Amino acid sequence: KLYNQLQDLKGNIRVYCRVRPFLPGQFSSMSAVSHIDDGNITVMTPAKYCKEGHKSFTFNKVFGPTATQEEVFSDTQPLIRSVLDGYNVCIFAYGQTGSGKTYTMSGPKELTEEGLGVNYRALNDLFHISEQRKDTFCYEIAVQMIEIYNEQVRDLLANDGGNRRLEIRNSSQKGLNVPDANLVHVASTSDVIELMNLGQKNRAVCSTAMNDRSSRSHSCLTIHVQGRDLTSGNVLRGCMHLVDLAGSERVDKSEVKGDRLKEAQHINKSLSALGDVIAALAQKNTHVPYRNSKLTQLLQDSLGGQAKTLMFVHISPEMDAIGETISTLKFAERVA
Ligand code: ADP
Ligand code: MG
Repeated sequence: KLYNQLQDLKGNIRVYCRVRPFLPGQFSSMSAVSHIDDGNITVMTPAKYCKEGHKSFTFNKVFGPTATQEEVFSDTQPLIRSVLDGYNVCIFAYGQTGSGKTYTMSGPKELTEEGLGVNYRALNDLFHISEQRKDTFCYEIAVQMIEIYNEQVRDLLANDGGNRRLEIRNSSQKGLNVPDANLVHVASTSDVIELMNLGQKNRAVCSTAMNDRSSRSHSCLTIHVQGRDLTSGNVLRGCMHLVDLAGSERVDKSEVKGDRLKEAQHINKSLSALGDVIAALAQKNTHVPYRNSKLTQLLQDSLGGQAKTLMFVHISPEMDAIGETISTLKFAERVA
């Protein structure tokens, strides 16, 4: 109970950590993660990071390498209900490239029923709960899918591949922050799967020129929910942003130049802007610096206030990823 009160004090921000398993065929001599216990995680560190040789961090929950997609989602479910009650929700996947962000949000490349990620499960639940409430509420559900790359917003559901740059407008009519991005009404999870495939395809179009651009852009699936109370006629609106963030790895400035350096700087800027916003909210600061990046501008009315935020922080188990793992855990600790 006290724990819940503390959560409320922190303005509805939760941080879950997920550790990816070693991959098949990977030489898995030793994991950098030495201990996981409920919300605590201990990693082994070379002396240059911490002279004790190990360091512990505490989050709302830590999912170890054997956690299933279902287990990871089960703690997310209350948030889905609150979207239908008219709240705004943001769910983020943070971590270095290869740590499992896309796996958590969407699933493995060869999608199976058990493999379905948070996006699909969230939508399934939305449709399911809205169906249960159909005698009292009439819900409409619509989605948008956009990408932020080098501080430019692109529509992933555009039929032309989304080459136009879009504007972000806060508090526009109908609560659409990117009013020019395609808004597609959906009635079932399979509708959404189709759209997400289109979005993935559009995302891939640009990745041939610079390999795997997806790891260097943020993608955001936004689900808009509008519910009309059948007795009073009142309408409530909620929305949920499901964000697969760009890889958080630091690039060595001495090694990259030109476009690659510019990308890295944009990513750095937007991830630290996100960290600053969430940290300011967690500390109940009066000034919350939303204006510092496109990402935080986009999510402004879904971060803070009554909105609920969940950050999945991903780490890789390999010893040679320890530098990134520590900086990921430090980032997460700051917002937790
Ligand atoms: P990211 O999106 O952070 O770059 P991915 O989600 O693409 O990372 O994960 C990298 C690889 O690891 C993929 O092959 C993915 O299927 C696999 N993987 C990630 N997390 C898990 C997990 N929890 N269980 C099994 N395989 C995983
Ligand atoms: Mg990914």
